[in-house]
Amino acid sequence: MASLSALPLRSTSGPCSLPAKARCLHFVDNIRPRKDHQRVQSSKMGSFLDLEPAKSKTESLEFDVPWFDPASDRHRFDVIIIGAGPAGLRLAEQVSSHGIKVCCLDPSPLSMWPNNYGVWVDEFESLGLEDCLDKTWPISNNVKFHKAKVSKVEHEAFESSVACDDGTELKADLIVDASGFRSSFIEYNKPRNHGYQIAHGILAEVDQHPYDLDQMLLMDWRDSHLENESFDLRARNSRFPTFMYAMPFDTNLVFFEETSIVSRPVLSYTEVKQRMAARLRHLGITVRRVIEEEKSFFQMGGPLPKIPQSIMAFGGNSGLVHSATGYTVARTMALAPAVAEAIAECLGSSTCRGSPVLYDRVWNALWPVERRWSREYNNLGMEMLELDLEGTRGFLDAFFKLNPRLWQGFLSSTLSFGELADGIIRLSTCLKSLQVPHAH
Ligand SMILES: Cc1cc2nc3c(=O)[nH]c(=O)nc-3n(C[C@H](O)[C@H](O)[C@H](O)COP(=O)(O)OP(=O)(O)OC[C@H]3O[C@@H](n4cnc5c(N)ncnc54)[C@H](O)[C@@H]3O)c2cc1C
Repeated sequence: MASLSALPLRSTSGPCSLPAKARCLHFVDNIRPRKDHQRVQSSKMGSFLDLEPAKSKTESLEFDVPWFDPASDRHRFDVIIIGAGPAGLRLAEQVSSHGIKVCCLDPSPLSMWPNNYGVWVDEFESLGLEDCLDKTWPISNNVKFHKAKVSKVEHEAFESSVACDDGTELKADLIVDASGFRSSFIEYNKPRNHGYQIAHGILAEVDQHPYDLDQMLLMDWRDSHLENESFDLRARNSRFPTFMYAMPFDTNLVFFEETSIVSRPVLSYTEVKQRMAARLRHLGITVRRVIEEEKSFFQMGGPLPKIPQSIMAFGGNSGLVHSATGYTVARTMALAPAVAEAIAECLGSSTCRGSPVLYDRVWNALWPVERRWSREYNNLGMEMLELDLEGTRGFLDAFFKLNPRLWQGFLSSTLSFGELADGIIRLSTCLKSLQVPHAH
């Protein structure tokens, strides 16, 4: 086995256009049609809703990683990370770079992550990840991988342990749960009353399209496509609006995504698809072939985990999802070094290692008090986005009239608490002057 293993993050560069050049939304997505996608048949109805993308089986990465060997390896690590998604892998890389022994557990550590995610280009540039195409991240030998699902986590005075579905038991000073939104190991103080983002995306081969190949359409909030549709579809769109992203890759290849940014209760997936079909029809876009289909559904907002607690959360289960856009990945990548540093400091200190101070320090590295306040304000922003169509348009007008430093900082969660409060006050004043109505 090579001394350095690697984990790739694949992407293609999607062109984009936004009000300010400095901020560019980049969709990191492996758009190359996969070998196992069959051609999709055109339907009698001529609507892409009837076109089915071929079922793609989960692909596995074609390289090896250092595996945990239950027969010969010690069952004791410094840190165990549950989950080898983007959060788990990034933290494993960062923590192990401090010389700390890490074991990363996942039922399928080498399955290709379906990386259809957007990040702001300047965020990834600042992390040195601007060219993610077939990028490989070295993972040091201090990380071992084990292919298993964690079923139980237990904490004792000086160590914690995990039990896996294959019967393996492992112990560590610190367990990090990076198993995603659905994690069941993390405690929350309040009920998880999330809003929901739901979206339907297709990478489609089309006859023709009206988009400029040098621009990405970030949010098409128009509703003219619903004029000739049933009254119900129009009325529901006014109440719970959706918008569409369009990323033209070629004259015949576009990624479309119809998105309900946040709603409570969640819109039905069928309705989101119908709205996209109506929009494409109205734009005169005929879909010849659906190359890939994406169904996106995740929680937005909700309470923070209980802080501290004797297991650390990182990634989708730790409250990092941006309450107004749903983006999580770039922020998770950016915060991993600080969390890893806190872990390294604590494990290197005899007073901290094995004491509750460890949990306190590590949790506070992720969620210092000021960042918690900012999150509360961001959640307020999310409540504002639960607007009807008219309200949403007014909100976005006011939002993009703010100083770019404020709206850009809001979108990438980089504002200090003071800046955020300033932005919200300005936004509220502007909304009042525009008399933006609230739907709820
Ligand atoms: C279609 C879609 C589009 C999205 N678009 C964007 C976007 O544009 N921008 C953005 O920032 N975010 C986007 N997201 C959200 C983003 O994918 C998540 O925020 C991100 O995947 C969270 O990473 P994570 O590592 O915390 O969790 P996950 O990616 O969910 O990874 C969790 C890992 O833990 C493993 N696991 C789970 N349970 C256990 C267990 N008991 N034991 C061991 N392992 C376990 C799983 O197998 C998985 O590998 C999108 C999500 C979807 C579904």
